[in-house]
Amino acid sequence: MTAPLDPSSTVFVDVDTQVDFVEPDGALYVPGGELLKPAFATLLEAARRHDRPVIASADAHPPGDPEFATFPPHCLAGTPGQRRVAETEPTAARVIDVAGVDAGGEGRTTVLEKVKFDLFTNPAAERELAATGAKTAIVFGLALDYCVRAAALGLRERGYETVVVRDATAPVTAEGGARVEAELRDAGVRFATTAEVDAAFP
Ligand SMILES: [Zn+2]
Repeated sequence: MTAPLDPSSTVFVDVDTQVDFVEPDGALYVPGGELLKPAFATLLEAARRHDRPVIASADAHPPGDPEFATFPPHCLAGTPGQRRVAETEPTAARVIDVAGVDAGGEGRTTVLEKVKFDLFTNPAAERELAATGAKTAIVFGLALDYCVRAAALGLRERGYETVVVRDATAPVTAEGGARVEAELRDAGVRFATTAEVDAAFP
């Protein structure tokens, strides 16, 4: 990472840190996902220390979702596999459902439910991000070559300085990860480590 992070202009974007992706017995386990949990916790603690907003995307599929033609059924709305892991489960959050409707709750964390890879398919995503006033998005979660990719590219398209925390994400395949890392760098996405972000949020 080059230029230092200014904590006061940041939003943390926690992508799909859900049981079905993170845990080895999850329905669509991303290899090594469970090893990232300490990094997830460190990043969210940094956000908490500086009272920064968190946008937390969450797959919330209905039974028979078209995505299940490509991937095994996962993150079925309301099931244990759809929950966030303990390290990223907010104590209080506002939930925006897949239609972009505020489903209640309040807190520093806004959960954006979605049925596609891209969190911007939630109709409220742009508005919710804009409402944070942030200029820089610190992105982590799963999986690097699918939903993290979509989030990072979508943030860049919308003018956010975008930092992907490389040791707080993992790809489904190593080849996919290498290809996407190059693609993201070409799109102007920066990469940082959890330790670098932590140090920037004293
Ligand atoms: Zn999905």
